[in-house]
Amino acid sequence: MKQFMNFIGGEFVATGKTFENRAPVDNGLIGLVHEAGAAEVDAAVKAARAALTGEWGRMSVAKRVELLHAVADEINRRFDDFLAAEMADTGKPHALASHVDIPRGAANFKVFADIVKNVPAESFEMATPDGGQAINYAVRSPLGVIGVVCPWNLPLLLMTWKVGPALACGNTVVVKPSEETPATATLLGEVMNAVGIPPGVYNVVHGFGPDSAGEFLTRHPGVNGITFTGETRTGEAIMAAAAKGVRPVSFELGGKNAGIVFADADFDKAVAGITRSAFENCGQVCLGTERVYVQRPIFDRFVAALKVRAEALKPGPPQEPGVGIGPLISREHQQKVLSYYQKAKDEGATVVTGGGVPSMKGALAEGHWVQPTIWTGLPETAAVIREEIFGPCCHIAPFDTEEEAIVLANATDYGLATTVWTENLGTAHRVAKRVEVGICWVNSWFLRDLRTAFGGAKTSGIGREGGVHSLEFYTELRNVCIKL
Ligand code: NAD
Repeated sequence: MKQFMNFIGGEFVATGKTFENRAPVDNGLIGLVHEAGAAEVDAAVKAARAALTGEWGRMSVAKRVELLHAVADEINRRFDDFLAAEMADTGKPHALASHVDIPRGAANFKVFADIVKNVPAESFEMATPDGGQAINYAVRSPLGVIGVVCPWNLPLLLMTWKVGPALACGNTVVVKPSEETPATATLLGEVMNAVGIPPGVYNVVHGFGPDSAGEFLTRHPGVNGITFTGETRTGEAIMAAAAKGVRPVSFELGGKNAGIVFADADFDKAVAGITRSAFENCGQVCLGTERVYVQRPIFDRFVAALKVRAEALKPGPPQEPGVGIGPLISREHQQKVLSYYQKAKDEGATVVTGGGVPSMKGALAEGHWVQPTIWTGLPETAAVIREEIFGPCCHIAPFDTEEEAIVLANATDYGLATTVWTENLGTAHRVAKRVEVGICWVNSWFLRDLRTAFGGAKTSGIGREGGVHSLEFYTELRNVCIKL
């Protein structure tokens, strides 16, 4: 039986208390996860603190950069191990995990190492009242011990998106992966040891949120800052925990993103784009499009075309050829998504396609499958249009004018992403400027340049990550003023 242990001070640590890690495709047992209690979390934070003042804290930037490149290379060398672990934990198709999750997981270490190597700091000369001169210059210092709390939808990618810049900036980390996906964070511990990252720099504690490792970590006074990706209401709980000791937070939270398709869009590209944004990763992408607004002249044609695409997505396990959609992460999440499928019917939706569970053969019948689902005909007040579902589904509504589309897109408390489809340059720029989101894609979706700012507006997040923007959270600028 596989054991997923905590990784503390460079060693794998078992605890007396375990929970099961089950596969989304068939609910089969993958292994046992060792839950960290308050004592293990405390040991991890202390190991991280000790590493800050040890070899890691004294290391030159050049050496740190070299080590982080080695981490990326070692992930790539063990690509198949990471791929197998991620596919087992999430059930996502091979094509997706091998093109997105694992390569991006590795790239996050190189990208941020290179940014830190090249980033300048400011300096000012000033005249002093006595007729003399002074110079000021800024020094970037690591924030300290960073608590990293992660979700299950892109486990390695989203975790390294935080751990990469945190370590590049000279911090140490204690990671709390999602209880649903413990494998790749654990495997990364082996990589850290293999390439010679000093013990205590990277630590992993397993467990749940409230009254478990997540809460113990975020409440721990030895943690200097908390970076979190997950649901908005979890963010609220973590923010309350961080208030004690006025510790900074960086949050990537939920979304209820709009897709806007204008009548002048390249029709086939728009249909393909919305197919991805609504159904990729079984709809479990924070940037996903659960509200689609289509300009009236192409509305019926668009709905019909998206229906064909949705119905062509073959459900199945990661390695099966031709599979286009995996299962949801857990039975609990499946029940949540199905409850929204029911709500849509209760509120009078026209179910264009889906709305239930696909019939799966053999052991797969035990997996957490749902059908890609499209609705039309609901008022904007309907639950499936207001609340984040995080499943492979979308509601499509018609609109007439550009102004109306913008108002509809912005009528939400969330503000993560929008995808706009139009061949008119003017429309694209005007809409992009007015949608209240952290990222607006035009004629694309989930196209990421890692140097750009990423984050959410409104209740979708606090702060920006990516490129030099990550340094704002992971470092503190100190000013040195010298009177000459
Ligand atoms: P979640 O909030 O349920 O859990 C995320 C993590 O927080 C888990 O590790 C969990 O154990 C931990 N946690 C839960 N309660 C806690 C508490 N009180 N204290 C400390 N830790 C706690 O989210 P999830 O279900 O894993 O992920 C899905 C959500 O994440 C969706 O809302 C999605 O939109 C969001 N998400 C956002 C982004 C983004 O970049 N904005 C990216 C991916 C996912």
